[in-house]
Amino acid sequence: MEKLSNPQKTIEILKKYQFNFQKKFGQNFLIDAHVLDKIIAAAEITKEDFVLEIGPGIGTMTQYLAEAAREVTAVEIDKNLIPILEDTLSAYDNVQIINEDVLKLDLAKLAKERNGGQPMKVVANLPYYITTPIIMGLFESSVPLKSVTVMVQKEVAMRMQAGPGSKDYGALSLAVQYYAKPYLAANVPQNCFMPRPNVGSAVIRLTRYEEPPVKVKDEKLLFAIIRASFNQRRKTLQNGLSNAQELAFSKEEIAEAIERLGMPASVRGEALTLEEFARLADLLAE
Ligand code: SAM
Repeated sequence: MEKLSNPQKTIEILKKYQFNFQKKFGQNFLIDAHVLDKIIAAAEITKEDFVLEIGPGIGTMTQYLAEAAREVTAVEIDKNLIPILEDTLSAYDNVQIINEDVLKLDLAKLAKERNGGQPMKVVANLPYYITTPIIMGLFESSVPLKSVTVMVQKEVAMRMQAGPGSKDYGALSLAVQYYAKPYLAANVPQNCFMPRPNVGSAVIRLTRYEEPPVKVKDEKLLFAIIRASFNQRRKTLQNGLSNAQELAFSKEEIAEAIERLGMPASVRGEALTLEEFARLADLLAE
C-alpha cells in the first residue's frame, strides 16, 4: 500500500470511508513524511523493538512503525477508524489493532504477552486533551518502558524539559524528570496536520531511567511538596508549603528544613532542583 503521509492520499482515504473528524478525540492527522521520518529516528526504533502506538488514526505513522519495528500494537478509541486501519495496514503482518481507550487498557499485560515483559517503546502523535494522564499514567504504573516518544503541544514539551530558572519550570517538569530524561527532537508547525491544530507542536523523547535520579524516603511526600510549591507561584516556598492542605507541617518545621537545606527563607519553589526537592522531602520526613 502506498504511504498515507501526504495530503492527497489522506483526503482520498477520508473520502473513501466518509470519515468525519471527531474533535472530542483530539484528531489531527499527520500529513508530512519528513516529520514522520524524524519521529521514527528520534524513537530509535529497531527490528528488535515492540512498539505501542497510542491513537493510530488512519494508520499514517503505523505504516512507518511497522516497517521499522519487530511488532506494533496500535490502540485506537474511535471505532469508525478500525475498518480504515484494517485497509491501510493490510500489507503488514506485524501490526495488531486494538479498539479501546488506552487509559483503560492493561498495558503491563500487553507487554507481557507481546514482549515477554521486556521494556517496550511507546510512540504516538498524542490526542492533546489527555497528554498528561497518558504520560504520567505510563510512568507511574508498572508498565515496562524503554522510552516514550510523543508529539505534544509545544508548550507542554517546553514544560517537560525545563529546569530551574525557566518560566516553563514547574510540577510537570519535575514529575517527568523524576522518571525520564527528556530530549526535544523537533518543532512541528500546524500545517503538518489535517485538520490544523490551534497550537504549535513538538516531538519529545522521554527515556525512562532504570532508577530515579534521586532517592527519597517517601516518594508521595516528594510529589506533595512539589505540587504545593508550584500551587502558589508568587509565594515563597515557606508560605506555599505552610498553606498546603495536603501537608501537615508547622511553619517552624518548614522554616527549619529550608534553613538546613542551606536556602534563604525567601527562596521560591521554582529555584529548587529535583535534588534539592528530594533533600527537602527527606528533611521533612525525619
Ligand atoms: N497517529 C495518527 C496520526 O499521527 O495521523 C493520529 C493522531 S491524532 C492526534 C490522535 C489519535 O488518538 C486519534 O486517532 C484519536 O481518535 C485517538 N485517541 C483519542 N483518545 C484516545 C484514547 N483515550 N485511547 C486511544 N486512542 C485515542
